[in-house]
Amino acid sequence: MRENYRDLRVAVLGGGTVGAQVAHRLLEGADELGSRSGAGLALVGVAVRDIKAPRSAPIPAELLTTDAHSLILQADIVVELMGGIEPARTLILEALRSGADVVTANKALLAEHGPELFDAAARVGAQLYYEAAVAAAIPIIRPLRDSLAGDRVTKIMGIVNGTTNFILDEMDSKGLSFESALAEATELGYAEADPSADIDGFDAAQKACILSSLAFHTAVPLDDVYREGITSVSAQQIDAAKRSGHVIKLLAICERRIDPATGREGVSTRVHPTLIPRSHPLAAAHGANNAVYVEAEAAGPLMFYGAGAGGPETASAVLGDVVSAARRHVAGGPGVGESTHADLASIPLEHVESRLNISLVVKDQSGVLAAIAQVFSDHEVSVETLHQSASQDTRGEGETATLVIQTHSALEARGRETVEALAANPVVVSVTSVLRVEG
Ligand code: NAP
Repeated sequence: MRENYRDLRVAVLGGGTVGAQVAHRLLEGADELGSRSGAGLALVGVAVRDIKAPRSAPIPAELLTTDAHSLILQADIVVELMGGIEPARTLILEALRSGADVVTANKALLAEHGPELFDAAARVGAQLYYEAAVAAAIPIIRPLRDSLAGDRVTKIMGIVNGTTNFILDEMDSKGLSFESALAEATELGYAEADPSADIDGFDAAQKACILSSLAFHTAVPLDDVYREGITSVSAQQIDAAKRSGHVIKLLAICERRIDPATGREGVSTRVHPTLIPRSHPLAAAHGANNAVYVEAEAAGPLMFYGAGAGGPETASAVLGDVVSAARRHVAGGPGVGESTHADLASIPLEHVESRLNISLVVKDQSGVLAAIAQVFSDHEVSVETLHQSASQDTRGEGETATLVIQTHSALEARGRETVEALAANPVVVSVTSVLRVEG
């Protein structure tokens, strides 16, 4: 610890799953955290809604308060762990204006109001830290921000929502339907009573927005993130993926690529169920764990894996940020602002190229393959592989066969038009599955 440096005062806003763990560990580990920081760390209070509510880790009663505004004014470092947009946004702005550094795990707030908060920090030379906002315990923000600052990140594919990974993994390993796997996730506490934020992909989209902005030095608006959830993933799709050596994961994909419409480099940020080979490193992310796969020009592929939620796990990342904030205070100087110098445009999904895996039930008669091939050729989508098998479901259509077609990369718009044309073709009984393929 630096000789004679005054104790740094830390205020925690929120004493729930994460906040209680952070406060408890700050008290228990004060000496060691202080030694690592170069200054003592004094917890000055924990703001909550209800002082009498039970806490998941012990916090002395005298530290609890319902007056977050007054608490902020006493602090050098403010740790926001309330969640939601308001009052978290107003309180963070107040903290930054007062010159405090801020640590937050609030992905919803960063995805919606990140630029406003980073501007507020830059104006007073304070720093906003947010390691826990994406993939909780997994260090991914600092590697992107610092370790890879000398490289050029080209693509990120992340399993950044533990609930959906748990559901898809249960469907894959136990053959459960989506509904049964969701019920199990709810029973085990992985899914909220209203699971929409997870299963409809909102949570993953917020994290994708944060990762894309950081990796590509560009403020990516949340509205530019394409989002599809997992509610339509069927047990049949999971089973077919398994039989072909693949697995379905909900991926947040952040990519730097050329927009064919403008010829300029831009950013594509999207969240959707994706078919990946079982040999891909992301396929090894089981249960509620998270994983983030990063490709950088010089570094090549990098894989980050671990717990994407949980009180102690998230507290680990939050406390790392607290130590960083304390070190910065001791070293002096202004915070390092968020770099948005690249200012790349978002590429609409229609302009992105994807490989598609399309399953069709077709009439088992001569000329069918030629008719199907013609549809692909008409839309300039080339077929990479085609597998045919006897259909299990004939739906009164006489003899039928199942075709599983994997395409080469094609513009999303062309892929969609191809699927629509297939569905309307008289030889096609039904299009049973369309999935994007990565890896
Ligand atoms: P939580 O368990 O719901 O806790 C929220 C805390 O904030 C509670 O202590 C609550 O007080 C307090 N609070 C809420 N509104 C308040 C207000 N208006 N004034 C004062 N206090 C208020 O939430 P959490 O799971 O700890 O999550 C906190 C943040 O971490 C969120 O942004 C979340 O997205 C993020 N995060 C969580 C996890 C995780 O695994 N839980 C992982 C990564 C990131 P009472 O206790 O009195 O109700």
